[in-house]
Amino acid sequence: MRTLLLDPRRDATALVRAAALVRAGELVAFPTETVYGLGARVFCEACVQRIFAVKERPVDNPLIVHIGVLADVEQVAVAIPEGFWRLAERFFPGPLTVVLRRHPRVPAVVSAGLDTVAVRMPRHPVALELLGLVGEPIAAPSANRSGRPSPTCAEHVLQDLAGSIAAVLDGGRCEIGLESTVLDVLAQPPRILRPGAITAEEISAVLGMPVEYWRGPVQGAVPSPGMKYRHYAPRAAVVLLPSWEALQHWLREHPTADPVVLAAEAPPLALPVPIRPLQPATLYAEFRRSDTEGRTHVLVLYTAAIRSQPALADRLRKAAAQEVESQP
Ligand code: AMP
Ligand code: MG
Repeated sequence: MRTLLLDPRRDATALVRAAALVRAGELVAFPTETVYGLGARVFCEACVQRIFAVKERPVDNPLIVHIGVLADVEQVAVAIPEGFWRLAERFFPGPLTVVLRRHPRVPAVVSAGLDTVAVRMPRHPVALELLGLVGEPIAAPSANRSGRPSPTCAEHVLQDLAGSIAAVLDGGRCEIGLESTVLDVLAQPPRILRPGAITAEEISAVLGMPVEYWRGPVQGAVPSPGMKYRHYAPRAAVVLLPSWEALQHWLREHPTADPVVLAAEAPPLALPVPIRPLQPATLYAEFRRSDTEGRTHVLVLYTAAIRSQPALADRLRKAAAQEVESQP
């Protein structure tokens, strides 16, 4: 299959063609403000199964359902709690995914067999226009091959999926660059299953109640199955180091390594290795670049300022994990 690269900024027919492909049951990657998604018609079970096949995604890792208008949430979810509407009013469209009760019409494969469904309204204009033209919700996980960093530009999607999907809509670089906040509003109190750009404090202010971060299985149960996989990592080993001194020490101890350093601040003295910016919007692009360059290690200056950014700190910790978490 030849994968079409469709650019709505240059080609006035790009969006209409992409929507026609989705409606015909094909897979189309599209930009959102977080990362690129790999979309298929949500009510087409065979189409959704193709997402799992093409990504080589484990079947117990559920997808997010994208909606273009708020009313469409009632096509995919039932028994919607009042808090959802208040969250939607404040944060939709935007980088917040809310876990609700799944509508029986939504194929179980979308949610990896769970009786819940994760719903979000992206705010990227290309994503919203595509959803409008398709006229129904679109199931979409990140448009990377499973285990690779999420794509934050069309070129990353092609690196992983060229030849396996019908088209990529090119919307340039993703503004946020890390996946959405995933919030379980069915839990009491509501809890964040995956940190993203929208914080617990912001959500808590809207709901008028405390919101927890989920910090690992309490009694074996994993509320968000995707979290048990080692996500977000490059092939190089990711090493978190708390200071420039620790980083220099590491370099002395590993004279044969070929690392790259990611840091949000300038080093106090010259170092014999490349130093590149550490920020959410370019983290995954830097991971992919370290792979292209064949680096052995990505050394991250993991300071208190970085630790205080929940989404960035979460992805760095997961990328640095030496082993896949083994959870039931
Ligand atoms: P991705 O779009 O590739 O970031 O994957 C979607 C992620 O959303 C999954 O890995 C889960 O962590 C989360 N998710 C999707 N659906 C559900 C659900 N029904 N319940 C809990 N988490 C979900
Ligand atoms: Mg993903």
